[in-house]
Amino acid sequence: MNPSLPPSSAPSRPASPGLRATLVALVLLAVLPALGLALYHGLDQRAKARDEAKAAVANRARSLAAAQAEQLAGTHRLVESLAATTVVRVIDPQGCSLLFSQLLRQWGPGMANILAVSGSGERIAEAVENAGDAFPPGRTPLGGVSFADRDWFRQAQREKACRIGPFSLTADGRPVAVVACPALGWDGEVKAVVAASLTLDALGRSFAATPGSPGETGGVVAASGGLLARFPEASPAEGPNIADTPLGRSVLRTAAGSLEATGLDGEAKLVGVARLNPQAADSPAVFVAMPLAEAYAPAQSLLFHQMAWLVVVGLVGLGAAWFCGSRLLVSPIVALVEAAEAIGRGEFATRLTTPSRIRELARLGRAFNAMAGGLMERERVLAEKTAALEHSNQDLEQFAYVASHDLQEPLRKITSFADLLAKRCAGSLDETGERYVAYMVDGARRMSQLINHLLAYSRLGTRGAAFAPMELAAALDAALDNLELPLAEAGATVTRGELPTLVADATQLTQLFQNIIGNAVKYRADRPPVIHVSARREDGGWTVAVADNGQGIAPRHFERIFRMFQRLDTAKERQGAGIGLAFCKRIVERHGGRIWVESEEGTGSTFRFTLPDLEAGPA
Ligand code: ADP
Repeated sequence: MNPSLPPSSAPSRPASPGLRATLVALVLLAVLPALGLALYHGLDQRAKARDEAKAAVANRARSLAAAQAEQLAGTHRLVESLAATTVVRVIDPQGCSLLFSQLLRQWGPGMANILAVSGSGERIAEAVENAGDAFPPGRTPLGGVSFADRDWFRQAQREKACRIGPFSLTADGRPVAVVACPALGWDGEVKAVVAASLTLDALGRSFAATPGSPGETGGVVAASGGLLARFPEASPAEGPNIADTPLGRSVLRTAAGSLEATGLDGEAKLVGVARLNPQAADSPAVFVAMPLAEAYAPAQSLLFHQMAWLVVVGLVGLGAAWFCGSRLLVSPIVALVEAAEAIGRGEFATRLTTPSRIRELARLGRAFNAMAGGLMERERVLAEKTAALEHSNQDLEQFAYVASHDLQEPLRKITSFADLLAKRCAGSLDETGERYVAYMVDGARRMSQLINHLLAYSRLGTRGAAFAPMELAAALDAALDNLELPLAEAGATVTRGELPTLVADATQLTQLFQNIIGNAVKYRADRPPVIHVSARREDGGWTVAVADNGQGIAPRHFERIFRMFQRLDTAKERQGAGIGLAFCKRIVERHGGRIWVESEEGTGSTFRFTLPDLEAGPA
């Protein structure tokens, strides 16, 4: 590797996306609205499924409350009927006991007892749930209890109407609602009061009988916030007040419906609420709570399934786009690119053999093949023309050589005989004759010079040495050696920048420097010449500049001075044939470069020429 050549670096471009990636991006762009729509639909479905879950939980609470309300209404009817029976009205403890026990058994769970109390508050008869027979007076386990101070007794007696008591916890922690109806005598006085205690057992059973989702819990909360019952657990011995818990607050605030709240266990719940007695403001509320994750699980899984399908369908679509894009688009285009690169390398016989299945690409392939055919034909014609040109060039060169060689001979004769004429006839010729002979000699000498220049010029292109790595500085040194005398005479200073190593014809580059620097000295101004040679890396090659402080050149002559036999300065003391810069142009063009001048009259000129990077070998 050459140390003086900095590595040529291609300007870095941002990587452009491939055809496949573009195709996939386009497919994505096309399916994006569909994906968005599907996602919207999925979210909508989920919202609906959530609404359904909310409705289901609210329904469950409502049906539980309705079942319990139905029990209460049934109890009311029963107690009312019992108060009207003869056994009660005539205060027949035995008959009452039998009737009550029978009815209690028939009623099933949910009723704790049926009781008949006399107008003074003493028990006439009572049937207790799970206690077998009813207790007639004297056999009661609670013997001697007076009911005269009970709210339900006093209210029934006072108002002479049925009293449907609110649910409250008994001393043993059971939630009970007492339904009491008075039995009135003919005189309209209260003879007895029949009461039945309804528990929430039926509610618990119906909660258990229709199991909801796993983890479902429920309960009944009194208007005060006291927890009357809790499902599926057993009823609390002492109802805690949950009015200050998030669940309690939410349930008490809601008449009916569903809500989301933190449950008593601290877990997020979907809660359904209904009132046992929607008409009463202080009615206990029935609630059913489901863990939120459980409640919304179907909605979540619906969305998840839709999303999973979307992803699968999207991936399949993208895969198909990738695969089809590769087969139908990328492969033919890659083949086209490779064929174009081959054409670029000069392999004009390259053709696309597999026609694409896509109409436009097939057309492109045909057009490409036609273009390659056209190029091959042009290449053939060009090769023929080049061969003809080379041939005629050789002929011309031969002609120039023969002409110059053969013309030299008669010219030498003219010169020598003119010399002879001048010597022999010295004195016999008059002044005009001698001047004519001198013109003849000078003309013949100039013609000989011109012929030599022409010959040298014609040889520049074809008889140059092979290109080889060379130091540009060495060529400059050689040129300066050749110009030692004129440089010294003019008192010239030549400086240089860093000069590269490159592949070129060293002899011709010496000649190039010699002509340009020679001119810088020849066409100097009234000051000693100062010449600077420098080189700069540019566009895959080198640009060399030779700057002087000479008389400069008018811009209108910038082109002309590089033509053969074109001189701007015809002063006698500056000899020249007007061929030096034409030589320079020919040398630079042989190396694949170009030469030009930048100048300002009176200030100086800078001659620049480019030398592209070349491979070593014959030109
Ligand atoms: P020649 O030097 O024999 O006249 P060239 O082809 O070398 O022929 O130059 C052509 C003309 O370009 C010259 O006649 C001269 O007028 C002009 N020229 C060349 N080099 C310079 C220079 N460095 N400064 C000013 N004029 C120049």
